[in-house]
Amino acid sequence: MENRNLKRDLEQLDSILKEQGISRRDAMKVMGLGGAAFMVGGTEAEAATSLEASSAKGKIVIIGGGLAGMSTAARLTNSLSNPDITVIEPEALSCSYQPGQTLIGAGLWEKSDIAYKRDDFVPSGTKIIKEKAVEFDPDNNTVTTDKGTKVSYDYMIIAAGVKLNYAAIKGLEEAGEAYSSGNNSKLVRVLDSVGASSIYTADGSAATWTNMKKFIAAAKSGKNVKGVFTHPNTPIKCGGAPKKIMYLMNSRLEEAGGSARANADLHFYPNGGGMFGIKNYHKAIVKQFEARNMNYSYKHNLVEVKDGKAIFDHHSKVKGNYDEDLEEYEMITKHERVEADFDFLHITPPMKAPDEIGKSKVGSKKGWVPVNKETLQHARYKNVFALGDIAAVPMGKTGGSARKQYKVVVNNVISMMESGSIPSTNIKYAGYTVCPLITSIGTVMLAEFNWASKKTGDGSNAAMTSLLDPTKERYIWWLLKFYLLKPMTVYGMLAGKA
Ligand SMILES: Cc1cc2nc3c(=O)[nH]c(=O)nc-3n(C[C@H](O)[C@H](O)[C@H](O)COP(=O)(O)OP(=O)(O)OC[C@H]3O[C@@H](n4cnc5c(N)ncnc54)[C@H](O)[C@@H]3O)c2cc1C
Repeated sequence: MENRNLKRDLEQLDSILKEQGISRRDAMKVMGLGGAAFMVGGTEAEAATSLEASSAKGKIVIIGGGLAGMSTAARLTNSLSNPDITVIEPEALSCSYQPGQTLIGAGLWEKSDIAYKRDDFVPSGTKIIKEKAVEFDPDNNTVTTDKGTKVSYDYMIIAAGVKLNYAAIKGLEEAGEAYSSGNNSKLVRVLDSVGASSIYTADGSAATWTNMKKFIAAAKSGKNVKGVFTHPNTPIKCGGAPKKIMYLMNSRLEEAGGSARANADLHFYPNGGGMFGIKNYHKAIVKQFEARNMNYSYKHNLVEVKDGKAIFDHHSKVKGNYDEDLEEYEMITKHERVEADFDFLHITPPMKAPDEIGKSKVGSKKGWVPVNKETLQHARYKNVFALGDIAAVPMGKTGGSARKQYKVVVNNVISMMESGSIPSTNIKYAGYTVCPLITSIGTVMLAEFNWASKKTGDGSNAAMTSLLDPTKERYIWWLLKFYLLKPMTVYGMLAGKA
């Protein structure tokens, strides 16, 4: 696939490294990156694809051809000698590189830098149905699309991502629900009408930069302005993005010079009671916020936008009645409505599984597809697997998680096809995820972690790719984020190789 942006990024990276007297290969070693990263040079690509081919047979249907779905299709194609794979995906730009939306929001990348066509990533031999799966009958192994196409399968892999539920916020009902890719011009209009921005769609990220520029110009002209940034009360994809866009706003204000930064009050209102689920990353972020004079108020969930005000449900636990039997106070949740004026509002919307899946037999009470968190096999249907943002696994809604998960799913589906069971020796998903937390233009804190990190409170159990202290902001991780992760995703993951 021809893509000038990838070549340009790699050329720019090479010239930056050359100035500093190191080769790309040596830089990768410092970063602790293995074959996946070398692959961006192409030389080791072939070696990485030499998976052992299985002659197992079975009809596999994949729901969703985004990052997780297409990577899985590619790796299955590389791994099976007789692949019979069908992907159901309605969106033409489903393979777009969503992590780049944060950079578009701050005017560092263009929308065209992340737009990738689904049809360029359909592995040879894979059938693509450009429709939406709407009816699931897992008892009879069939799925039906919105256009009435009925598909039967032996194995189904669900990788349908999340729906961005802007409509759940009062005042934004008209915005409805959205996916990150595709035409979201109506959503942008509705957000604009209440003065809000959101990088969670590609269209929205481009509009965010327009609004950011106005905010910065107002601050620079001497006006005192307020920027408000939210984080909702549902699981979200890329938990770091709500903060990344705030750090980038801070950076852009500083870059604008004069008293622009001093005139802007930046305030983060997350629903949760901390900055990050892992103690050491939380502490590092609090320090970074304080050093930059960025404010924060925990336990605030955005519920409404009205008349230039963001309205939050501020919730807190307070002592209730004393329980004589238990000899302790009952703890009750107190709710208080808090209004914040804003000149710039960045909304991270509540997210959920698409209803046609979440409310079907393969969904769950909360919608996410219930799976064994280590094998990614469905909790009730042994021939169904789920991965990516839609899977009900803790802390797993990033491309970095999907990169570990798709290999597990491919191995396990092939084992099921070969022997009807999953050997305990197959690789397991251990909860690995990674958040390249952009802390300014030029620095990133590479927060890697897995489920074990929750217990230790740091990244030490995360099978970290680098030995560098993960709580430090570094230029080298900025280079990784800005220049390398996209080619790694496109050449490595979407090709089923890394
Ligand atoms: C602003 C932002 C910043 C991010 N930053 C990072 C980052 O720095 N690092 C990182 O690792 N990750 C990041 N991510 C997250 C990452 O992009 C996602 O975790 C990843 O795309 C998940 O892949 P997926 O395949 O599960 O979902 P998606 O890539 O969203 O694909 C899901 C696909 O399913 C399709 N679909 C939905 N319903 C149906 C249906 N009923 N029938 C058929 N198809 C259907 C959709 O059209 C969509 O194409 C970021 C995301 C955003 C939005």
